[in-house]
Formats: sequence, structure tokens, C-alpha cells
Amino acid sequence: MMRRLALVFALVLAVGCSRSDPKRPNSPIPPPAATPPCPAAESVVVPEPVAGLSRTDYAQHVLDLRRRLPPGFSLVVEPPFVVLGNGSADRVRHFAVGTIRWAVTLLKKSYFTRDPSRILDIWLLEDDTSYRQASLDLVGRLPNTPYGFYDDAKGALVMNITTGGGTLVHEIVHPFIEANFEHCPAWFNEGLGSLYEQSDERDGEIVGLTNWRLPGLQRAIRRGVLPSFEALTHTTSSDFYDRDPGTNYAQARYLLYYLQEMGLLVRYYHLFLEQRTLDPTGYRTLVRVLGGPDMRRFRREWEEYVLGLEFHPRT
Ligand SMILES: [Zn+2]
Repeated sequence: MMRRLALVFALVLAVGCSRSDPKRPNSPIPPPAATPPCPAAESVVVPEPVAGLSRTDYAQHVLDLRRRLPPGFSLVVEPPFVVLGNGSADRVRHFAVGTIRWAVTLLKKSYFTRDPSRILDIWLLEDDTSYRQASLDLVGRLPNTPYGFYDDAKGALVMNITTGGGTLVHEIVHPFIEANFEHCPAWFNEGLGSLYEQSDERDGEIVGLTNWRLPGLQRAIRRGVLPSFEALTHTTSSDFYDRDPGTNYAQARYLLYYLQEMGLLVRYYHLFLEQRTLDPTGYRTLVRVLGGPDMRRFRREWEEYVLGLEFHPRT
């Protein structure tokens, strides 16, 4: 039995097989320059397990999944995830290696020292019908977004992957924040996830690019309706999600984008994490990382910066 389990684990198998932002259109992740080629299914050796999970844990998890997997799904083990999809085996492998492994490797390089402590399933659904059905089957409800979501209680990331890989990278950020940043406020968790929903690699690091959230944010800046950064960073989860004036995700994203472009984001994350007991909102740490500016003045400078950014959707 153990031999069979190990064999199951050692191969990529073709087995015949937080809250979300409902307004979020997905956006494709540019093909990462360092994406390794997708090898043939039979030759892939699964990477080392993570976070104290053994090969047997993964093998057992795969066997459990296979028992309830509908026909037409392929499965790839990509620790700390198991990736399942109803597209072709090549397509599932493409996302497992080209998007998931790429994003996880670079996110861990910049931010995360700990992996999620359990095996999480990423479901890649190839049409709206199967996406909605999978959501119903896996988490017991229809999705409130057409793009994808992470359900931490079920340990599942459920994606309508036909809309691109952007939401996939966004959602991957959440279980890593969960594992590394206890009591991370929603504004930062969603700001970081949103930052990487359009991402690329620069000098070996993951970077967020301008994306579809920009024009709406620019309109809000011109109308003068954005809350202060002090107010944004002091939002509770309920404030952030349920009383969102429609700009929370974008404002958080482009604050972090600004920090990234100034070379301050990774430092800010680690300092915020270190100081989280003293400064749970991250606001004081933000002021400190910015060099202690007058925050009203900084706000005006940031708004000018954002108004000067451009986003050109790909056709
Ligand atoms: Zn999110």
C-alpha cells in the first residue's frame, strides 16, 4: 500500500479526471520569463512536501480526492497545493507550473517564510457552469464573483480559469498571509492580493503592474472622495468588505504599488509584520517607512502619482 501511495505521489497524475471582490474582472498574468517548461506528465517528480506534511499526507489526500473527483478532471500535485482542473492535463500542468509555482516561489522569496500548514486544493474550472457547480459542491454555495475565490474553511481556491490567471495569483496570496501574518488587516491582505492579480517578474522579484482598477481609482481621486490612508488602514474587516465605497481594493492596491515602485514594499511588509502587535493597522509603520512625511502632503503627492499612471488593456 505504501508503495502505491508513494507512486501516486511521485507522478503528476492524469486521473481522468476570504472573501472575494465580486466586481473583480480577471486579468491574465503575463507569461513569466523564468517559467520552466512543462514536462511530460509521466516524468514529473513532485517537489518536496512543505510545512511538515509528508509525502504520505499528499498521497492520501490525492487518493481521497480521486474518490470524489468527477470524470474529466486532471490533477497535479504542486505543494502546498493540489491543482485540479477540468481542462486538458497539459493545461492544468501549465497553470500548476507556469502560474502557481512561479507565483509561490517569488512570493516566498519576497515575503513568506512559512507555508500553509495544510494541503489546499486549487480548482480550475473551464466554464461558468462547472465553476458554479464546483462552488456549490465544494463550499455549499454559489459564488458571489464570476472570477474565483478562496474559502479558508474548506481549504479550497475555486477559479473560473477561463477569465485568466490574475485572480488565481490574487487568491494564492491569501493562504500565505494566513500562514505568516496573524491578524493581518483586510486592507493589507486584499491590497497585496490585488497587487499581484496583474504581475510580472523584474530582477528576479514579483512585481504588480497597473491594471483595470486604475481608471476607477483615478476617477475617485478627481472627485475627491477617497478616504485618508489613516482611515483606510483603520478599517475593520467589516468596514473594508461590507462598507466599501467601491475604492477600497484599488486604494489599497495602489498604495502598495507606490511602495513597490519606490522600493519600499518588501521592507514595509516585514516591518509591519514585526511591529504588528504595537501597530496592528500598519499606519504608523507606513508613516515610518515613508520617512515621516506630513501625510496630507503625501496623500496629494500619491494622488498626483496615481493620476500619472496608465493602464492599457490588452486586446
Ligand atoms: Zn482577496
